[in-house]
Amino acid sequence: MSAYISSPIRTDSIIRKYKIGLKKGLGQNFLVDTNIAKKIASKANISSEDIILEIGSGIGSLTEVLLSLSNKIICIEIDRLIAKAFKDIFTERLGEEIELIEGDALKLDYCKLSEEYKINKIVSNLPYKIAAPLLIKILIEAAGIDRLFVTIQKDIADRVIASPGDKNYSSYTVKSNFLASYNVCFQVSRNCFRPKPFVDSTFVEIIRKDSSVLLKELIGIQGEIENENKAVINFFKFIDDCFSNRRKKIINSLAGSSKKYLDKKVLIIKLLNEINKDENVRAEELKLEDFIFLYKNIIN
Ligand code: SAM
Repeated sequence: MSAYISSPIRTDSIIRKYKIGLKKGLGQNFLVDTNIAKKIASKANISSEDIILEIGSGIGSLTEVLLSLSNKIICIEIDRLIAKAFKDIFTERLGEEIELIEGDALKLDYCKLSEEYKINKIVSNLPYKIAAPLLIKILIEAAGIDRLFVTIQKDIADRVIASPGDKNYSSYTVKSNFLASYNVCFQVSRNCFRPKPFVDSTFVEIIRKDSSVLLKELIGIQGEIENENKAVINFFKFIDDCFSNRRKKIINSLAGSSKKYLDKKVLIIKLLNEINKDENVRAEELKLEDFIFLYKNIIN
């Protein structure tokens, strides 16, 4: 029986055989710790009914372990040479238990993809560079995927779990928490990857929030939703405006980002007072509920 793909010896031999020149820009750091792969699979609580999406499948280090528990995995990989190695390794299982999509994960439509394959879970060691925008994109688009289990850069995990006033609290924190809640499961040392990245990682469980409840909160019960995703995107634009200058008071950040806020200064101060804040407050001091309250009353 051959060693696991996630064993250092097998990973090295695949890299050598296919002459894979690993690209830092694409976050090509392969998992070389089978215990971590098994720990990920166990935390993701996979059953044979699950249809899993794995983004950035690489040479299949995690795929192999996930496949021992699940009957169907949809993989996405951007690198053609790595995809070639993957197809050779899993040749007998392709088209049956595994579907490989060769392409850019940032360009896919996750609403269509999740419906087409009936995906209910994501389990991935995400490519570092795209992890932050990709998670937001998936949470907005794929209403059917309610659980994501992902390894992400530690500093991104620190941002999603930050509280108001923390140094890591940002517009990304507010957006991420509008869409989902987060459980940090365990840390993954940089030593578990080949080549070794510059940073450590965190394995996180992400639980999507119910979008109908969220939208009701956002646009009020009287609101007419033409396009649900558009409502979320408009709210996120407002969050960006609030954080457009971290060192400025929120009223000045808003005034500086769009003329439409200029004649609403009095209203904004009144609304801030209603949530027990004064006009000097900065965006990083407000919690998600405060942003929803402000948005509903300023924009609608
Ligand atoms: N899943 C494998 C593992 O655990 O060893 C590989 C993980 S590695 C951190 C990330 C993988 O994502 C690489 O194989 C890389 O080529 C791929 N990747 C990078 N950017 C991508 C993108 N935009 N779309 C799809 N795959 C991408």
